[in-house]
Amino acid sequence: MSDKPHDYCGIFGIYNHPQAALMTYYGLHALQHRGQESAGIVTSTIDQIKNRSVMPMHKDFGLVLNVFDDKSIFTQKLHGHSAIGHNRYSTSGSAANATNIQPFRVHYSKGNLALGHNGNLTNARQLRDHFINEGVLFQSTSDTELILHLISHSRKQDQLDQILDALSKIEGAYCLVILTDDKLIAVRDPNGFRPLALGKLDDSYVVASETCAFDIIGAEYIREIKPGEVLIIDRETINGGDIKSHFLVGRTFISPGQESRDLKVRTKFNTVKGVIEDRPVIIVDDSIVRGTTSRYLVNMIRQCNPTEVHFMVSSPQIVDPCFYGMDFPSPDELIANRFNRDPERIAESLGVDSLHYLSPEGLVAAVKEANPKGQEYCTACFTGNYPVPVEAGVKKEENELI
Ligand code: SF4
Repeated sequence: MSDKPHDYCGIFGIYNHPQAALMTYYGLHALQHRGQESAGIVTSTIDQIKNRSVMPMHKDFGLVLNVFDDKSIFTQKLHGHSAIGHNRYSTSGSAANATNIQPFRVHYSKGNLALGHNGNLTNARQLRDHFINEGVLFQSTSDTELILHLISHSRKQDQLDQILDALSKIEGAYCLVILTDDKLIAVRDPNGFRPLALGKLDDSYVVASETCAFDIIGAEYIREIKPGEVLIIDRETINGGDIKSHFLVGRTFISPGQESRDLKVRTKFNTVKGVIEDRPVIIVDDSIVRGTTSRYLVNMIRQCNPTEVHFMVSSPQIVDPCFYGMDFPSPDELIANRFNRDPERIAESLGVDSLHYLSPEGLVAAVKEANPKGQEYCTACFTGNYPVPVEAGVKKEENELI
């Protein structure tokens, strides 16, 4: 793990493909960089002997290649024309707990339901307290299970209404793939914190955290799923053509909380002394979080006797935690805070002659062209202005249940 913000988890979903599980496997393989702790696939099919809908599942700790290293998993087990898959990088819930491996699959009054989640619910603690008071039993320590409880406890009659009802009660950063007995549902939170894309492969539809999952199976990218969009893909979509969408409206109150973790430098660099010696060196990096990696890198370069070392950072100073799913250390570990947000002091601590950051305004201006509609961007970790309010005094760690 590098000393960088880390994007969490990869999700994939496919509807109406004769080899849905295999396509999902390839998709997860392409998304492996988003999470290496565990991987899982759930499919939807009819059990011919029992004549009822079932959702076979295979999931385990490890990389996609290892979890699905037995061909019979696809030929004997994961039958069906629709599937969802998940690569996990733990955002909430203990990483070592096997019950936290996704997707989650349950059977309840409306049939089978499976869910894969990328992100963090910022009101998870309140929801969990509520359900605990109601006597609800939890199998995992993951936020994701809360969404399933919200769906099964909804008073709505129709399953889709139950899902929409549940979604109206969750807050934070999330992308979801939900598999029902007859639908694939893809959801992106109203702020669009996490990415989710829609694609097409022959007569099937696919959704994935990143389009690299489309490239590997030869699917065509259609569009990104919009912030707050609940996209419903079913038989009618395949025969009628139009994909139905609902839109979620963001709520205003949040109780945040998520784990923080001790990031350790694992990155290895090599320097060529002949190139660096007696020359000025400029290091360009996309961010400095704790400064551990940067300091290590500067030391290596200094050993090659450059005349000067300057550091240019293509983001503003990171000064506040992200409550929307990016993995930052706690505020007092951030190098900007440790040195009073003073670039000269930070430069001194890193051992460089000068240090320059992009300003928050500069960052927003730099991406203006890609944002013709003038959509607001979150800059909370650079400015402390949280687009979805965060309850005062709550630490990121407080929501973590191990
Ligand atoms: S606080 Fe906002 S800008 Fe910073 S990492 Fe989180 S979502 Fe992105």
